[in-house]
Amino acid sequence: MEKKPALALYNTLSREKEPFAPIDGELARMYTCGPTVYDFAHIGNLRSYVFMDILRRVLSRNGYRLKHVMNITDVGHLVSDSDTGPDKIVKGALEQNMTPYEISEKYAKAFMDDMAALNIGRPEIIAKATEHIPHMLAFVERLVEKGYGYEISDGVYFDIGKFGRYGRLSRADLDDQLAGARVGVNPEKRHPADFALWIKAPKEHIMQWPSKWGMGYPGWHIECSAMALHYLGEVFDIHTGGVDHIPVHHENEIAQSDALIGRQAVMRWMHGEFLTVDNGKMSKSLRNTYTLADLRARGFEPLAFRYFCLNGHYRNKLNFTWDGMKSAAVSHRRFLEGALLHRGAPADGAAAAEAGRLRAEFDAAANDDLNVPKALGVAWNAIRYPVKSDAIYALLLDMDSVFGLGVGSGAAPQQADSERGGGVPADAEALLEERRAAREAKDWKKSDELRDSLKALGYSVIDAKDGQRLERI
Ligand code: AMP
Ligand code: ZN
Repeated sequence: MEKKPALALYNTLSREKEPFAPIDGELARMYTCGPTVYDFAHIGNLRSYVFMDILRRVLSRNGYRLKHVMNITDVGHLVSDSDTGPDKIVKGALEQNMTPYEISEKYAKAFMDDMAALNIGRPEIIAKATEHIPHMLAFVERLVEKGYGYEISDGVYFDIGKFGRYGRLSRADLDDQLAGARVGVNPEKRHPADFALWIKAPKEHIMQWPSKWGMGYPGWHIECSAMALHYLGEVFDIHTGGVDHIPVHHENEIAQSDALIGRQAVMRWMHGEFLTVDNGKMSKSLRNTYTLADLRARGFEPLAFRYFCLNGHYRNKLNFTWDGMKSAAVSHRRFLEGALLHRGAPADGAAAAEAGRLRAEFDAAANDDLNVPKALGVAWNAIRYPVKSDAIYALLLDMDSVFGLGVGSGAAPQQADSERGGGVPADAEALLEERRAAREAKDWKKSDELRDSLKALGYSVIDAKDGQRLERI
C-alpha cells in the first residue's frame, strides 16, 4: 500500500492542527468523556460519539493500536456544570421512580445499543464512575496533601489560585467569566471558581460513600481525571469531548491532573461541535431533543443519521432538520446502491489506476484533521466513475473502514417511507453530493459548475438554510 500523508489533528489547546505521533510509538492512548446516563442519548450526544468513532477509525487506519477509555457518568454530574443543583442521576431516579442504579443501568444499556446501531466502535475500556470511587478519593487526597485541595463545610474544593494556570484551554478571562455569575456560591470558597472535588452528602442523598471528610460523593470533573490516570497513566495522547466541555469540565480536568503530576497530562484536546436542531439549541421544552428511536419512528435507519453526521466536519456546527435528514437517507441509500453497482465488475486497468489516485485523495482528506465531508466527496467521485469495476468497489469498501456506512453489508437499504416522493436519479444525486462537498470546502467555482451540470440534467438547486435541495425544472 502507498504511504499515507501524515496525520494532522487539531488541538484545542494550541488552536492549531498538529502532526500526530503517540507518546508510546504504535499505541495511541485516548480518553473520551462519556454520557451521563439519566435519559436516552439525543442525536446531538450521538453526533459527538460519531466524531469519537471517526477518530478511532482514522487512528487505526494509520496503523496505531488504541487504548481508549470512555467513562459512564452515573454519579456526580450536577444539573449545572458549575457544581450547583441536584445530581442528574438522582434527579432522574426520583422523576422516573427508579433507583439511581436502575436508571444508570437502563440508560447505559440503551446508549450501548445506540452506539452499535450507529456502527460506533466500542472503546477498549468503558469505566463506570461508581466503580472507581476509591481511585477518585485517592486522587483528591493527594491533591489535598499537595496543597491544591481544601476542605470547607460542604465539600473539598480545588484551589485554582494555587494552580495559577487556570483557563488556558478556553482562553477565558476568569474575571469576565465570573462577573455576575455563580450566585449562591459557598462564601467559604477561596475563589468563586474553585470547584468541588468531593461533595459532602446530606443524610437523605441517595448515593454516598465514606471518606476521610465524612459521607459524600465525587465531583463530576474528578471522575474523568481519576479514571484517565488509572487506565492511561499520567501523560497520554488525546482527550475528546463536546465543545460545551471546554470552559468548565475540561478546564477543571486540566487543573486537577496537571496539578497532581506537576506537568501537562493531556497532549491534545479535541472537541466536537454541536448539532443544532432547526438552527437552535435542542431542549426538552421545545420537544426537539430527538433520539434514535424518534428517527426510527419516522422511518429513518440509524446509519442514515450517521451519513447525516458525516456531511459536516466535526469542528463545524451541523444543523438537523427533517428535510435534511430525508436527503441524507436518500444519499445514503444511493451511496450503497452506487457502490454495489461496481461489485464483481471485471477488472479494468484504467479503473484500478483511478482507484489508486482516489485512495490517495481520500487518505489526504481523512488525515487532514478528519475531513470526512471531503473524503465523502472523493467516494462519490469513485461511485460516479463511468466504468463499473471491482477495483472501485474494493476502494469503496476500504474507504468504508472510516465511514462505517455499511458498504459490503449486503444489499442497499430499501427505499424507506421517509423517502417516498424523492425520485431523483443517482447521477443527479451524486452531483448534488459533490456540490455539497465543494461548498463545505468553500470551492464556490466548483459549486457553480456543478449547479450548471445539474441544470443540464433538468434540475435546479435550491440553497436553503438547512442545505441544498433539487427541484425539477
Ligand atoms: P452528557 O450526557 O450530557 O454528558 O453529554 C454527552 C456528550 O454529548 C458530551 O460529549 C457533550 O459534549 C455532547 N453533547 C451534548 N449536547 C450536544 C449537541 N447538541 N451536539 C453535539 N454534542 C452534544
Ligand atoms: Zn469528562
